[in-house]
Amino acid sequence: MLLLNVMRLIRLLRLYKLLRIGTRDYPFLYYFRGIENVAVVRRIFGKKTEEILKNLRVEFTWIGGYMWINNFNGHLVISAKYLKEGDRTDIYLDLIHELVHVKQLMEGKELFDVHYSYTERPTEVEAYSVAVEEAKRIGLSDKRICRYLKTEWMSDEDLKRLAKALNVKCALE
Ligand SMILES: [Zn+2]
Repeated sequence: MLLLNVMRLIRLLRLYKLLRIGTRDYPFLYYFRGIENVAVVRRIFGKKTEEILKNLRVEFTWIGGYMWINNFNGHLVISAKYLKEGDRTDIYLDLIHELVHVKQLMEGKELFDVHYSYTERPTEVEAYSVAVEEAKRIGLSDKRICRYLKTEWMSDEDLKRLAKALNVKCALE
């Protein structure tokens, strides 16, 4: 019986190793050092800012897209192409957005709650509102913020609804 359990454990470990191939993760602060000193980031995590960011891991993907949180391990996943070629301001605001999700995940919140559409999901609205507040603080115009908010998977209706919830004026024809 005991032997059987050990065998099963070894099999599981092997499988685990296999799954890990190709998904290396790195310390978040190795790539984004200094972000722990930014006021908005300190507001998100409070006194635990250093500790949380020190433990945060980042994975790079070739799949494309922008960045998101891996729901299973809490890692931040970033498209390597986006990091290399994306607009610096957009990347900065996305990082703020994703760090809000890191906090939410730690609070036990469901990040991909299918009961809501993307732009109405409370976790998304909170993440966007923190990012937009920061966008305004660094001096972005409403027009520029709208450009940031608009993604290819968002309809004009979605964008309108999100912009309204965030108190951003989007001029849509
Ligand atoms: Zn989000």
